[in-house]
Amino acid sequence: MRTPIIAGNWKMNKTLPESVAFVKELAPALAPYTSVERVVGPTYVALAAVSEALSGTDIAVSSQGIHWEDEGAYTSQIAPVMIQDLVTYAIIGHSECRAYLGETDEEVNKKARAALAHGIKPIIAVGESLEQNEAGETSSFVGGQVRAALEGISAEDMPKVVIAYEPIWAIGTGKSASGEIAQNIIGGTIRAVLIDLYGDEVAQKIRIQYGGSVKPDNMAEYMSQPDVDGALVGGASLKVDAFTELVKIAA
Ligand code: PGA
Repeated sequence: MRTPIIAGNWKMNKTLPESVAFVKELAPALAPYTSVERVVGPTYVALAAVSEALSGTDIAVSSQGIHWEDEGAYTSQIAPVMIQDLVTYAIIGHSECRAYLGETDEEVNKKARAALAHGIKPIIAVGESLEQNEAGETSSFVGGQVRAALEGISAEDMPKVVIAYEPIWAIGTGKSASGEIAQNIIGGTIRAVLIDLYGDEVAQKIRIQYGGSVKPDNMAEYMSQPDVDGALVGGASLKVDAFTELVKIAA
């Protein structure tokens, strides 16, 4: 009943012309797989051109971040009003933003609320470090991140929210979590928190992705898990063939 969603997080890759050329090749390749929501996440400088290149297709665009204020003295940041006509989604709380830009749980929450207030759907990323994983803290840490991110977000808005479980030790490392581990955290922790906060009916509508070294050869394992509703993909989203294969497997 939940539509799978596969989102490409391009990170700091592809110039403006490369981004446009890429989506022009990608769009027809992804066109047949209408049962899957397909999303690309270019850098800020390419958002307008990619959005334009994809107009008339059903491929959605995501920003890789967002600020919570509408304007002001926030050097380097992008306000929701600046991208609200260009994107459907915004990735918030990615572990790289938490680590390198100091994005806190409180900021993740402010950004998620600001996104929703501007008609942008947040993809909220959560996930534990290797140390936390080895100390057996995954469930309590990830559950806490989800609760903090959703503070004050209404049940009515929740079906617009996507959550991405991305264990930090699996991002860009080639060391992916098994399907069973992904299901345990996504179903056993994240959806359980959503049920606790919003009740079963709302919780069952919310898409939860797995992310971290997702590739064509492990995608089927994730998609066969009952609570995994797609993937947030870094490296494999940068190639037309690999990304198309992921979408095909999810379809
Ligand atoms: P990866 O990145 O697929 O390259 O591991 C995932 C992510 O950071 O979203």
